[in-house]
Amino acid sequence: MSELSKTLDDALAVAHLPALLMALVHLTGDEGLLTAERRPVYVLLADGKDGGYPPEVQADIRDRARAAITAYLAGAPLPPQPSPAAIRKMMDWIAGVDIPSHYAPFLMDELGLGDIDTKTPDWTSPRLEAAARRLKVVVVGAGMSGLLAGIRLKQAGVDFTIIEKNADVGGTWLENVYPGCRVDNPNHMYSYSFEPNHDFPQFYSTQGVLLAYFRKVADKHDLRSRIRFSTSVEQAVFDEGAGKWRVEIQTPAGDRESLEADVLISAVGQLNRPKFPDIDGMETFEGPSFHSARWRHDVDLAGKRVAVIGTGASAYQFVPKIAPEVGQLEVFQRSPPWTFPAPTYHHDVPEGKKWLLEHVPFYGKWYRFWLFWMLTDGFYEGVKTDPTWNGPPHAVSAANDVMRELVTAAIRAQAPEDLDLLEKVIPTYPVGGKRALLDNGVWLEALKRDNVDLVTAPISKIVPQGIVTADGATHEADVIIYGTGFHASRFLWPMRIVGRGGVELHEAWDGDARAYLGMTTPGFPNLFMVYGPNTNIVVNGSIIFFSECSVRYIVGALKLMAERDLATMEVRGDVHDAFNVRVDAANALMAWGSQHVSSWYKNAKGRVSQNWPFPLVDYWNATVSPNPDDFLLTQKVKAEA
Ligand SMILES: Cc1cc2nc3c(=O)[nH]c(=O)nc-3n(C[C@H](O)[C@H](O)[C@H](O)COP(=O)(O)OP(=O)(O)OC[C@H]3O[C@@H](n4cnc5c(N)ncnc54)[C@H](O)[C@@H]3O)c2cc1C
Repeated sequence: MSELSKTLDDALAVAHLPALLMALVHLTGDEGLLTAERRPVYVLLADGKDGGYPPEVQADIRDRARAAITAYLAGAPLPPQPSPAAIRKMMDWIAGVDIPSHYAPFLMDELGLGDIDTKTPDWTSPRLEAAARRLKVVVVGAGMSGLLAGIRLKQAGVDFTIIEKNADVGGTWLENVYPGCRVDNPNHMYSYSFEPNHDFPQFYSTQGVLLAYFRKVADKHDLRSRIRFSTSVEQAVFDEGAGKWRVEIQTPAGDRESLEADVLISAVGQLNRPKFPDIDGMETFEGPSFHSARWRHDVDLAGKRVAVIGTGASAYQFVPKIAPEVGQLEVFQRSPPWTFPAPTYHHDVPEGKKWLLEHVPFYGKWYRFWLFWMLTDGFYEGVKTDPTWNGPPHAVSAANDVMRELVTAAIRAQAPEDLDLLEKVIPTYPVGGKRALLDNGVWLEALKRDNVDLVTAPISKIVPQGIVTADGATHEADVIIYGTGFHASRFLWPMRIVGRGGVELHEAWDGDARAYLGMTTPGFPNLFMVYGPNTNIVVNGSIIFFSECSVRYIVGALKLMAERDLATMEVRGDVHDAFNVRVDAANALMAWGSQHVSSWYKNAKGRVSQNWPFPLVDYWNATVSPNPDDFLLTQKVKAEA
């Protein structure tokens, strides 16, 4: 057997067969391959790799792929690309359902096939190029969203500076260095659509791998020279006379400096400012204590009595890591997270799969497409409230109840005898009420350890020796770790942003941040936000998708300013308000809007200010380009234009 056939056999053995079938259509030009017997049948929450095909169909797809890939690698030319109608049919095939037709342009864009590319700026006329050069933009933040803004602004030819408080790029993936930190979307979709990485070592990469990815992207697009590191934006004031933002920054030397910008883009994230709970006596604790997002690697946990407060996404990742090392671990839980079975959560990507991604044309695109569909809008209906649902409040619809049954069974199977533990870890709120975490068994394994205890009694205070619970028990600890999340609903905080008429943004919001499409707010001309209010997603979508849509829209707004010689663009109050009425009504009908759920998605006023309540396709459609009628536009004065 030649080296190639061995490599190919190994690769085909681990291939995602429905994606391979799509690649086969590209390689052979044979649309007749899409027969009923080759239409996959997926099982909810399973990995879908074999498409539910009987063994003979699996073998047939592999045999055909072996022949076609061998011929291609030997130099056979690719046939013409499938027609749009064929690609449309292929989408239905790989999804295993008939995808509604209004999804087609959106998914075609995501696939990167055909002529649709809505995200790369196209500012080709000489007049636009000149106007682009005159625009000055300040971007705050060099995490995933700020880098993306930089890439697109550079492609558009716009002059920009990124201000970043840290000494490096990466944001979330630079700051969260707690043990076990990793992404909980499959990596082949948690990456920019235009920067695939066929070399991700695991399906769900660890923090270090993601940081390396974002660093590499920053270098490839030569962004570092445009970033001012270790510099923070303290405030920005809109100068109405000049139609410019005066952006006040603090330099690494501690000096204040003012920058002028036509447009200010905030890319400061929703989860960048760690939040501590408000517990009596916190400051009296005599041992070390720290937040998971500021992990103290200098604190040796070996053999110590450690208390962890919180069972959210971060604690869920670091508790299994530290449990074997510490002497005693008490985990204080307010409400348990839902967990979805994900057997590959810690698995390496087999070499064969990497080989297919790298060498077989279109395999990677269709694999990403499959992930995208199955993990995002494919899930949507299951977390939507059915107003006619009259079952128990632990579900919001019949479909949601089925999901609950499935997930509950998977949790029970891990500790069938331990009824006390099951009682504590099975949520009583509906699936989708909070972001579901991925379960490969390590969480319950950790909680079942002799040196670990899950405490559900509410915390009443912290004392020098440890934590006192409402039942009067004192839980002595040497170290306290806060896995208590972020100041998510305080968007753009602690920056001071002053808009028209001297109005400060946080005063205007009064604890209830809102924006049109998550990006713009009345009274704050030429200010745009990425990952702003109501652009978070709960059920396993990737925030990168949202940021790509937002940045496309913002660059579209800049193009409008350049084309029309605009001085300012300010969203109309009625447009903004009507949008938010729709958002609120829709959020109330989602599992996370249920009155039986309390979570960081709801702000102090009880409103869901974090999440997008509609299918992803709706955000894609709404952000293709700004509608000038949604804005109050002012022209530049002639001399300036
Ligand atoms: C532990 C963790 C795990 C996550 N896992 C996932 C996941 O699996 N999937 C998913 O889709 N999302 C996940 N998220 C959400 C994640 O935040 C986004 O996916 C993404 O990283 C957001 O990128 P961003 O650039 O918008 O924000 P961030 O990554 O938060 O970057 C914001 C940047 O702005 C900078 N900044 C802030 N304020 C200022 C200022 N005043 N001046 C200068 N610079 C400033 C910060 O230093 C930072 O670099 C996770 C978040 C956390 C915390």
